[in-house]
Amino acid sequence: MRRIIAMMGQAAGPYRPQWNRAVVITVFGALANGLTLVLLLPMVVSLLSGDTATGWWLVGAIAALMIAEGFLRVGELGFSYNLYPTLMEDIRLRLGEHLRRIPAEELALRRSGGLSTTLNQDVTNSMLSVSEVASLFLRLIVIPLGFVIALIVIDPRLLLGAILGAVVVAFTLARQNAVTARSQPAIARADAETADRIVEYVQGLPVLKAAGQVGDRSERLVAAMHAQGRALRASIDQASFALTGAAIGANLAVAGVVAVGASLVLGAELSPVMAAAVVVAAAGLAEPLARAAALTSVFEVAEAAMGRINDVLAIAPLPTPETPAVLTAHHIAFENVSFSYRGAVAPAIQDVSVNIPAGSLTAFVGPSGGGKTTMTRLIARFADPQQGRVLIGGTDIREVTERELMRHIAVVFQDVHLFDASIFDNVAMARPQASEQEVLDALEAANCGELLARLPDGAHTRVGEVGNQLSGGERQRVAIARALLKDAPIVLLDEPTSALDTESEVMVQEAIDRLVRDKTVVVIAHRLSTVVAADQIVVLDAGRVREIGDHTSLLASGGRYAAMWAAQTRARGWTLAQDALAHQTSV
Ligand code: ADP
Ligand code: MG
Repeated sequence: MRRIIAMMGQAAGPYRPQWNRAVVITVFGALANGLTLVLLLPMVVSLLSGDTATGWWLVGAIAALMIAEGFLRVGELGFSYNLYPTLMEDIRLRLGEHLRRIPAEELALRRSGGLSTTLNQDVTNSMLSVSEVASLFLRLIVIPLGFVIALIVIDPRLLLGAILGAVVVAFTLARQNAVTARSQPAIARADAETADRIVEYVQGLPVLKAAGQVGDRSERLVAAMHAQGRALRASIDQASFALTGAAIGANLAVAGVVAVGASLVLGAELSPVMAAAVVVAAAGLAEPLARAAALTSVFEVAEAAMGRINDVLAIAPLPTPETPAVLTAHHIAFENVSFSYRGAVAPAIQDVSVNIPAGSLTAFVGPSGGGKTTMTRLIARFADPQQGRVLIGGTDIREVTERELMRHIAVVFQDVHLFDASIFDNVAMARPQASEQEVLDALEAANCGELLARLPDGAHTRVGEVGNQLSGGERQRVAIARALLKDAPIVLLDEPTSALDTESEVMVQEAIDRLVRDKTVVVIAHRLSTVVAADQIVVLDAGRVREIGDHTSLLASGGRYAAMWAAQTRARGWTLAQDALAHQTSV
């Protein structure tokens, strides 16, 4: 009971007054309902015993109560209809706002299917179930309570008759509680698994088709759906057991009261009229009692859904400073930085110290998994390092707000995400106050001119309409236009790999050259030309900095970099070497 009340309080959130009003209306409805049943006793008694005046009064009172209850029900519904959508909207907005503030790495760790299940289904479940629980719960308390009091007034021995039935109901409910506590998490897991599989399947369909794996993967989806069905069927089996048990218990209670009443009548301790009245009222009680069984399973559904909502709300956002600093300079420094992904065995970055002077171009090179991407993510504060500090312009980036940090950084990563808006809007979002001409200039500078000329509505073509027609190089150029428009002093860049054809590559390279001019640039370099031209090359392997220097000095020192260089330029044409580079080791 305490859990139910706590849950209702949480569900109401900032809408407590409205919620309380809905509860009061429900309680009054239940009271009217209970009172109607209770008044049946004296009504029948007085009508049968010839006291017609009182009898008619009572008939009138019962009729009035029934009408009142009808209105209260309408009120209760009206309230729910108004309140629950608002509550759901409120929780969804809170969740959305929260997702915006949690570290990007935390989002990446979660499966998108699970998150969307929480925002959609869990919110709906929790709210609808809470409303149902509230209504059932209140009726369950009020109605039987009125009846019990009436029985005590008439003859407490009548209550004895109800004991066996009450025990059966209590036992069923207790068992149902235990069973649903186990089955609900199973259903939730099955739901989340299915949602994940659907996302995976839909997103991966083109790849699966190409690989001839459609049948294989859809088996996983089908298996998830079967498992979901099984979990649901099992819980329904359990629920029907509970409903049956509670109904039997309720009927037993009525029968018990009838039996005791009959024996009291035979012993001349109760008038037959009163006994008849008790039977009528007891029959009216059986129904709400039988519905009690639904309470626990609905409650478990709501509680589990709320638990998952709370899990998401419990993800800690990156700590923000009380008195935020502002960034005034743009040299970047890693000071003894170590970072481990959650659940990873080895740290992705170990005790790294690197200085990146303002206005320089620094290339991260090294084998795949060496920590290059992680380094750039730490600069953009997708996560905080467990040890050490990342500084920009001498300021620990944890001392500035996310907004301030992002004002200074433009990011072009390989997995370019374009929103389903126009290409123009996809670029303009980088600096919403930019003029139309500035956006078009950025697109032009990013070598998108020829692309826009080919699209039906030029820059105002929706990405969704042409999504698949945009090549990797074209998407990359739109992302570069975004970064160009933002014109941030720091540019983080994951260079395109050899996936681009030569012409595309030249165009992307030109766009990148315009982007990085006069900026502090950190580039995950896949091209020899970038590496050779870099002011500073950082060789990362297994999360550690192995070598730092420019191309000439690193070649001269004859270490890892020199070896990689030799392996990749040996006996190869320039183009081939570039391909090998991107495919094998991402120098
Ligand atoms: P690189 O970009 O040089 O290929 P990354 O920075 O992507 O290297 O990865 C460094 C290490 O961190 C690798 O061992 C990789 O498996 C691991 N790693 C990368 N991303 C995650 C993640 N989200 N969760 C756990 N481990 C990760
Ligand atoms: Mg990488």
